[in-house]
Amino acid sequence: MNKIIKKPELLAPGGNMEKMKIAFQYGADAVYAAGTRFGLRAYAGNFTETELQEAIEYAHNLGKKVYVTVNIFTRDHDYEHLPEYILHLKKIQADAVIVSDPGLVYMIRKHVPDMEIHLSTQANTTNSYAAQFWAESGVKRIILARELTGSETREMIVRVKDMDIEMFVHGAMCMSYSGRCLLSNYLANRDSNRGMCTQPCRWKYHLTEEQRPGEYMPVFEDQHGTYIFNSKDLCLIRQIPEIIQMGVTSLKIEGRMKSAHYVGTVTSAYRQAIDAYCKDPDNYEFDPMWMEMLERISHRPYYTGFFYGMDPKGGQIHSSSTYVKEYDFIGLVMGYDSDKKTLKIEQRNKFSKGDEIEFHQPDGTLIHHEVKVMYNENMERVESAPHPQMTVYMPMDKPVQKGSMIRKIPV
Ligand code: SF4
Repeated sequence: MNKIIKKPELLAPGGNMEKMKIAFQYGADAVYAAGTRFGLRAYAGNFTETELQEAIEYAHNLGKKVYVTVNIFTRDHDYEHLPEYILHLKKIQADAVIVSDPGLVYMIRKHVPDMEIHLSTQANTTNSYAAQFWAESGVKRIILARELTGSETREMIVRVKDMDIEMFVHGAMCMSYSGRCLLSNYLANRDSNRGMCTQPCRWKYHLTEEQRPGEYMPVFEDQHGTYIFNSKDLCLIRQIPEIIQMGVTSLKIEGRMKSAHYVGTVTSAYRQAIDAYCKDPDNYEFDPMWMEMLERISHRPYYTGFFYGMDPKGGQIHSSSTYVKEYDFIGLVMGYDSDKKTLKIEQRNKFSKGDEIEFHQPDGTLIHHEVKVMYNENMERVESAPHPQMTVYMPMDKPVQKGSMIRKIPV
């Protein structure tokens, strides 16, 4: 007999309009996005106030949601403009605001009481008493601290009724506790808690001695080098059944600064895993293809974060701080002309005649193809597509879905 399960929301990063559309196309139920003010990703592209309104209208027409991040740690002077900003977000029908500062929760309850409030992971909620406190303060949803284990999350969901729980299932991890970190403030004069982190935790460090300027002495932690700050990426796609059974409301993908290719690929993999499990939990089988898809994007080595408890060595990368990247994202399918049997493509990275490519369609299916002939926008035959965002036409016998991501298969 089938278990009774509640299908969770799949929440993807909406770094800008294009990434938001791709997230929805590849199966996200909702995105989180920032306006140009008061968010924690100052370099994510973000939405102007007009774009944010358009994004929300676009999402609502699809029956999907947009949560707006207002998750800086505020100072008193911020409140000069915050009430009017939250009122504006309510007016344009943002589905919720994501905040981390108790001052903001208080202000919103006072000035815009019908605005739904989600509590950011930056607020470090790690126990059910804190969750209860926030529930009684008017918070509708808590994005749990990433440091919680799976069983602690399960217990919290049992203990705290009437509270939606959101948890991170995929993406980069901060080596600091829930992002509370001042490295960037000190080393680059950019405040990570006000959206400007320069990621110095990924930099390479050497030792210098005061009297020997310019001499960089290496710091070796072990035979592989130094990786004291360097965290792996979280990946919980194999744990989807456990997470759904726990009753988590929303599964969150990290990465508003990441590429459209990342957003589409990760969303697609988790969409398929969630749908497959919810459709038939008793006969669910993990499809290794989902993991293969996640290996196609630029990422650091994956691990399960704190889901199974603290493993001081397991979360760190023992060799390098660079990304693992094998497949190149080379373009997006803009349309298929079934009369001329031709694909219209917008180039994103160089590709050439003879390349083996694959189309990752919005429904999750893959099509392999070899580039034999291609044309530029003047319908002249070309050997390669070297120019950023150039239009390319490619003969293709069968249709490929609009919005498909195109990757070059490594040789
Ligand atoms: S420097 Fe690294 S650990 Fe610190 S906030 Fe930035 S990403 Fe997180």
